[in-house]
Amino acid sequence: MILDARELADSAVLTADVCIAGGGAAGLTLGLSLRNKGLTVCILESGGYEPDNAVQALYQGTMSGIKTWELDKCRMRLLGGTTYHWEGLCRPFVPEDFTARAYIPGSGWPVTYEDIVPFYRRAHRTLGLGGFDYDARALSERLQFPLLLADSDVVEPRFYQLSPPVRFGTRYRTDLNEAPDVHVYLHANVVDIRLTAAGGPVSHFECKTLEGTSFRVEAQRYVLALGGLENARVLLASNAQQSEGIANGSGRVGYFLEHPHYYRCIALLTKPSDLRFYRRNRVDIPVDGQSQLVDVYGGFGLSAAVRAGAGLPDFTATLEPAALEEADTGRLPAKTMQALTVSGAGRPELLRLSLQTEQTPTPESRMTLGNEVDALGMPRIDLHWTIRSDDNEALCRAAELLGVELGRAGLGRAWVPLQDQRFAWIRNAGCHHMGTTSMSADASLGVVNARCQAHDVENLYIAGSSVFVTGGACNPTLSIVALAHRLADHLEETF
Ligand SMILES: Cc1cc2nc3c(=O)[nH]c(=O)nc-3n(C[C@H](O)[C@H](O)[C@H](O)COP(=O)(O)OP(=O)(O)OC[C@H]3O[C@@H](n4cnc5c(N)ncnc54)[C@H](O)[C@@H]3O)c2cc1C
Repeated sequence: MILDARELADSAVLTADVCIAGGGAAGLTLGLSLRNKGLTVCILESGGYEPDNAVQALYQGTMSGIKTWELDKCRMRLLGGTTYHWEGLCRPFVPEDFTARAYIPGSGWPVTYEDIVPFYRRAHRTLGLGGFDYDARALSERLQFPLLLADSDVVEPRFYQLSPPVRFGTRYRTDLNEAPDVHVYLHANVVDIRLTAAGGPVSHFECKTLEGTSFRVEAQRYVLALGGLENARVLLASNAQQSEGIANGSGRVGYFLEHPHYYRCIALLTKPSDLRFYRRNRVDIPVDGQSQLVDVYGGFGLSAAVRAGAGLPDFTATLEPAALEEADTGRLPAKTMQALTVSGAGRPELLRLSLQTEQTPTPESRMTLGNEVDALGMPRIDLHWTIRSDDNEALCRAAELLGVELGRAGLGRAWVPLQDQRFAWIRNAGCHHMGTTSMSADASLGVVNARCQAHDVENLYIAGSSVFVTGGACNPTLSIVALAHRLADHLEETF
């Protein structure tokens, strides 16, 4: 059932078996998975049903590294969280994302792809996707749309499935209202995690409303599901008993990863090509034998063998028709530019390659707490996002490999705007906040274990992309939802 924390008496004490902070994709998936399991669940959500300026302002912060989307614009603080404006693009991690790759220092998860697959299947249902099937060659046959570079060993076809998109706050509102064992408190802000003693378990979450009242929640198990940055913010801000914050024995709370996005790489196709696979298409990808229509969006990357051989982080590329002005980067030969201005059948086709890339973890990229506080007295975030220079160089090599393949197939060429052997254009972020409470087997190298349980605090768990060790070249929400289902099973089994 959904309740309003503003109606609680000041200093009220709530109790539950499991207390979940945050009612976005992760928190609501977890809470709903724990329905009818004989447990009482309390979900604390800062916002209400609609966006509210005063609540959004709690998300304001500074950016001292690469400037990206404003912190209070890219994240949404209301029931359903940032799924209020997500686009719905979904792809799972691939098996090698979970392995320790020597050429990506800090890579390697304490879980395998196979461990997560059953939960990806469940996550597909939560997100209204088709079957858990990402075989791009089979999709091309099903659609009867050919692949570019179909015989290449270097380039690997890929595709996204698109969620309708499921907006958790509206899609699951009735389910939440009808669940007697799940109490969702709106307008409830978790501001502090209190331990029974320094180094001990959590005793309660301290909460505040923007109206000035306070209350606490006491539970057996606690889960942070506040989003990729706020999970770390609350841990760092809860420092009354431990100066480095809660669950931060490794000193790694706040290490930060994004997906650098590059939108203006140009591919020039000189041979007329059928590009329908690379548009948005609707197709039937059955779930458990039942027909399920889903939108798909084709793309490609480099094969795992090529990436491993050349030591390259991953990227996923998509193709869109580009305007002539976009080609005018000063790098295309005059003859080519001239050919592009000719209209008619002989004119080469100009395409924009957009790359969503993986970044190598680096301690320089991190979020910390600034000096300013928000309306609830919580320190605001300073986000210092950086990318290693060798990531840029690797990406240039990767784009060149792609260009060579286009040339080899007689299809055309790819132009990468370069400066000093680096990508010259401005990076965009994906609003994918990852890695700030990463998973590790060794407690000195991360914040949570393979079960998403804090290494240092036995009854504290973390859900969301903050537990990602690396980001792969896929959007995060499918994996966030899969890990939330997995955590629900663990909590149920161990109660
Ligand atoms: C424009 C845009 C497009 C996107 N498109 C895609 C896409 O196509 N595919 C994809 O995979 N991902 C996409 N994303 C990312 C996606 O939205 C997130 O990965 C996803 O919402 C994260 O889920 P979450 O539950 O971890 O965090 P959120 O959904 O952000 O939920 C966190 C919740 O915690 C609440 N909260 C925060 N602080 C507190 C507090 N102190 N106390 C109580 N509650 C609190 C918030 O109000 C919020 O409801 C997109 C993001 C943006 C901004």
